[in-house]
Amino acid sequence: MSYFCLSEKVFRVSLQNENQVNFLKDLTSTVQLDFWHPSSLHHVAVGAVVDFRVSSEHSKFVQMMLEQNKAHYEILLHNIQEEMEKQFDGGRHFRRRHSYRRYNDWEKIAAWSERISKKYSKLITRTQIGKTYEERPMFLLKVGTESGRKKAIFMDCGIHAREWISPAFCQWFVKEAVTTYGKDKIMTKLLDNLNFYILPVFNIDGYVWTWSKDRMWRKNRSNNSDSDCIGTDLNRNFKAAWGTTGISHDPCEEIYCGSSAESEPETKAVATFIHDNIASIKGYISIHSYSQMLLFPYGYDFKHTHNNDELNKVAKEAVDALSSLYATQYTYGSTASTIYPCSGSSMDWAYDEGIKYAFGFELRDRGKYGFLLPESKIAPTCKETVLAVKHIANHILSSAP
Ligand SMILES: [Zn+2]
Repeated sequence: MSYFCLSEKVFRVSLQNENQVNFLKDLTSTVQLDFWHPSSLHHVAVGAVVDFRVSSEHSKFVQMMLEQNKAHYEILLHNIQEEMEKQFDGGRHFRRRHSYRRYNDWEKIAAWSERISKKYSKLITRTQIGKTYEERPMFLLKVGTESGRKKAIFMDCGIHAREWISPAFCQWFVKEAVTTYGKDKIMTKLLDNLNFYILPVFNIDGYVWTWSKDRMWRKNRSNNSDSDCIGTDLNRNFKAAWGTTGISHDPCEEIYCGSSAESEPETKAVATFIHDNIASIKGYISIHSYSQMLLFPYGYDFKHTHNNDELNKVAKEAVDALSSLYATQYTYGSTASTIYPCSGSSMDWAYDEGIKYAFGFELRDRGKYGFLLPESKIAPTCKETVLAVKHIANHILSSAP
């Protein structure tokens, strides 16, 4: 049984009653659990299905406690270390080069963004919208033909560091756009008539950290005064009912919302850019993983948006387009009713700024690999997601005033 004792695991627990919810809450006071889905214990209630990671030294104890409390559970990942290695199954050759079918580190992504904007200079312009806490340049790619005043869609990837499939998607989408322009009817129409502002990695410092030190890091990397704990959850840091629901004011928690709204340089840079270009930006899309969901506002409240019916219809059609390729099943709806209420998200903020088409994707999978989605799944995940994004963009083009 030594194999068991030595490995970090991810458990999935279905909480059937109040006793089990309380048991899990008690458990977190003795053992550190890293919540994968939902992203914090704050969101956990009766009926919830919870995925969390447990260190190798505590896995056996946690499993014993789950059994004692008659909780329904399964072990999603038996050995995290092994899964971390297995995610790099996209071919060993040329690992030092950038590849759309593999996970690329920040250096490769930064160099790629420069290369592709030079190669397709008629379609891509690269600018810098700010710097991260550790002073890395935040590059933004504007993708579209140069022609007068156009509507625009802002899309960001990698706001949460460990969701590696997300930056992979932004790179794939840029490639797809420039290589199918002039060939694919819809993409040609989209790039001729609107611009995509694409931020390939939002939380660069966190992303770098997941490559160098801690694969499971989520937040950014800023210091917090009065605490030794590092980082703010950038998707709780926007000025949308900031600091109210589904957040923590404890810097040691994964959903720490920061010391104030837009306290983080990354949040500030994105909010400033969108605010400055609000006249043209008609759509906002934020890419996350995992759980296969397409979300729209609100998250900070159960109230409906003014165009809830339209957003619901567009989401349904986008999900249908997505599943037409490999039959991947997505759920859709408002954040609060579909996942859990949470304040300070970029999507809610964008909506309240006046961007009436705001969406958030939770890409593959549903927990078999979680954040450790193998590279062999990058291409199918990106191909199907492109269909959904194109559908949303096409709707925005024809419907946004
Ligand atoms: Zn996320």
